[in-house]
Amino acid sequence: MSRLAVVCGGSRGIGKAVSRLLAERGCRLAVVSRNEDAARATVSSLSGADHVAFSCDVSKEQEVQKTFETIQKTCGNISYLVNAAGINRDALLLRTKPEDMVALLHTNLLGTMLTCRAALRSMLHTQGAAIVNIGSVVGLKGNAGQSVYSASKAGLEGFTRSLAKEVASRNIKVNLLAPGFIRTDMTAGLKEEDGVRSIPMGRFEFLSAEGCKEAR
Ligand code: NAP
Repeated sequence: MSRLAVVCGGSRGIGKAVSRLLAERGCRLAVVSRNEDAARATVSSLSGADHVAFSCDVSKEQEVQKTFETIQKTCGNISYLVNAAGINRDALLLRTKPEDMVALLHTNLLGTMLTCRAALRSMLHTQGAAIVNIGSVVGLKGNAGQSVYSASKAGLEGFTRSLAKEVASRNIKVNLLAPGFIRTDMTAGLKEEDGVRSIPMGRFEFLSAEGCKEAR
């Protein structure tokens, strides 16, 4: 029987590419995002059958709880959870509105905590379950104009390391991926010179979310 993978933020960008890869490897996918039509569009583009789309705002505890209960009831126990739901609100701190700070922390950090918590009970029933949280290189290195976004991603690192220690004895792996620049909707507005200064080669090597390398 296929293993069930839940990809939060699977409707676009990195999450969509991950969903595609997992489907190609034989997983059954539950694709989660706020926009259900977009999640459905991803589902219909995947290879294999029986994938399902769910509308859920990961920053809202009750929605997350209800969605994961429905996933378990209708699709079975969860083997893999990928947390790729995220937002950015790039601005210098002095220009960052408090409501944007709340949105960043609630989506990027609290959202991941909530989905991990909601999925874990189900994962205890599957062998070799795994969680992958998507951090960012700026959570490790910092970046002007991204202080709150960086804080949300740095928080994910501590969360991921601690959770990995909590559940290792149950044979559940928890890891963080910290990507650099990937061309998606999130980075569509960025200029190359915004990020290139910290790169020793002085240029990006684009790896698009569709998985093809676009060297420049
Ligand atoms: P993206 O193309 O903007 O996609 C974001 C995804 O998250 C969409 O599916 C979106 O769907 C979903 N999402 C956003 N808020 C949500 C919420 N509250 N509840 C549920 N789903 C939500 O972004 P991306 O570039 O693929 O980024 C994915 C992750 O990688 C993010 O955590 C981002 O911080 C991280 N990252 C990206 C880069 C990069 O260069 N692109 C680099 C490092 C890290 P809906 O809008 O329909 O909800």
